[in-house]
Amino acid sequence: MIDLHSHTWLSDGHLGPAQLIARAESVGVRHLAITDHDCIAAHTQIQSGAVSVPQSMDIISGVEISTVWENQEIHIIGLLVETENSNLNQLLESQQERRRDRAGAIDKKLQRAGICGLSAYLSEQPCQAVGRNHVADFLISQSVVSSKQQAFTRYLAKRGNAYVSASWCTIDEAVAAITAAGGVAVLAHPDRYPLSKPKFKRLVDEFCAAGGEAIEVSYSNLNPDVLKNLAVICHEKSLWASVGSDFHSPDNTWMEMGRIRRLPEICRDRAIWLHPRWARLARPVEAQT
Ligand code: AMP
Ligand code: MN
Ligand code: MN
Ligand code: MN
Repeated sequence: MIDLHSHTWLSDGHLGPAQLIARAESVGVRHLAITDHDCIAAHTQIQSGAVSVPQSMDIISGVEISTVWENQEIHIIGLLVETENSNLNQLLESQQERRRDRAGAIDKKLQRAGICGLSAYLSEQPCQAVGRNHVADFLISQSVVSSKQQAFTRYLAKRGNAYVSASWCTIDEAVAAITAAGGVAVLAHPDRYPLSKPKFKRLVDEFCAAGGEAIEVSYSNLNPDVLKNLAVICHEKSLWASVGSDFHSPDNTWMEMGRIRRLPEICRDRAIWLHPRWARLARPVEAQT
């Protein structure tokens, strides 16, 4: 099986890199991209030997960069990136700083609402890229809310009491950094953005114009009709097709690693593992999922 979108606790996942790899192995994933939010530390740990990888497993370097486009957060994944690239590392450092600043501003808002202790909680976490999911876990740990969904609705989503907008980089900047690092830029989970059809079309066009090469076609919880539409867009725009669960935690049983539908026939010849860069950096993929 192949899964090209997953998170560790270096961003907002619940497993460390070694545990994530062990879980991938146990569920039969053989090609795994670790794509933490604005962070490539898992890959640095793997490359330095601090985290070991089983012989049977192919780890693909990756990252998921938060961008803002027309007041909307859009996630751009970089696959097969060179982790030492200075352009990419500079951008990720600045994104991580924006994340820390936002967490500080959220903490202030929570304190005003009488909820104290976020910064102490965060200082105990292993993450390098702090996110709203950490705040949601904190609110659950304090019994302020009973679920992640409630944490977002009441506090962290756009209309929540403790919402703070983040000044993420642009799509152009994210794609440029990924490309500078020799990677392939992928538009993540395209149906999860609340965009009208014409606006979505414009997003895809602008992503392509910026040098974006791929879109996620198959991922967790995807409606089969949406999967078909994405496959058609992929074919029509001559994009490469990626697949990934967006695994975060064993608690999210609806987002298990590797549990994604096969690419539809129309875009199978555009599978991202057929990209020329894949052949140089990763092992061949025999058959999908
Ligand atoms: P961040 O990058 O820190 O702003 O966090 C974004 C992540 O928060 C997304 O990748 C989702 O996992 C999660 N998220 C965003 N909005 C919601 C929501 N309304 N309900 C649940 N999770 C959400
Ligand atoms: Mn996440
Ligand atoms: Mn995402
Ligand atoms: Mn993700």
